[in-house]
Amino acid sequence: MLEYCLNCNYEKALELKIEPVTITVRGEAIETIDEFYQCPVCEEKFTTNLEYDSLEKAYREYRSRHNLVQPNEIRDWREHYGLTRTEFSRLLEWEEATLNRIEQGALQEVPEDQWLKFIMVPQNLLYLIISKPETLSAEKREQLISQLSANRIVVETLQRFYNILRENFSEFSKPRISRTKQA
Ligand SMILES: [Zn+2]
Repeated sequence: MLEYCLNCNYEKALELKIEPVTITVRGEAIETIDEFYQCPVCEEKFTTNLEYDSLEKAYREYRSRHNLVQPNEIRDWREHYGLTRTEFSRLLEWEEATLNRIEQGALQEVPEDQWLKFIMVPQNLLYLIISKPETLSAEKREQLISQLSANRIVVETLQRFYNILRENFSEFSKPRISRTKQA
């Protein structure tokens, strides 16, 4: 909240304004909103937070339109496996700065996105950890291998269970199951 204008002598709190704005991302027009404070006297605009905000929203929209992974999904995934940025960038064979930039909201290139999504598949991560043992400490490697192998067993068990269901109970279609449910 701005308590006075930074540009003129106006000394009251500035009004928060929200306006639609069109941002062009890689040649594509994306409608988003812009939040700012505006001085009623000199009409100077001031950003509410970081100037990055509306651009960040536009990037988020662009990523969801093009099915690109979002920065928070990368962070959550990395933290789920207890990988530091240094460790993850070593596995990616990226400069740590590249990963930092993308995790903090820079728009990734398509090949970067494909590589990220490839590694984010548990079996691929497991393969990478096993085939590049030098990238992680022995302790971290063992911990991850056991975490990923446990996941693999769960997935394989579910897959087997699903196949058994399909082979033996294929006559139970979805609508029929829901109709036999007790209210
Ligand atoms: Zn002013």
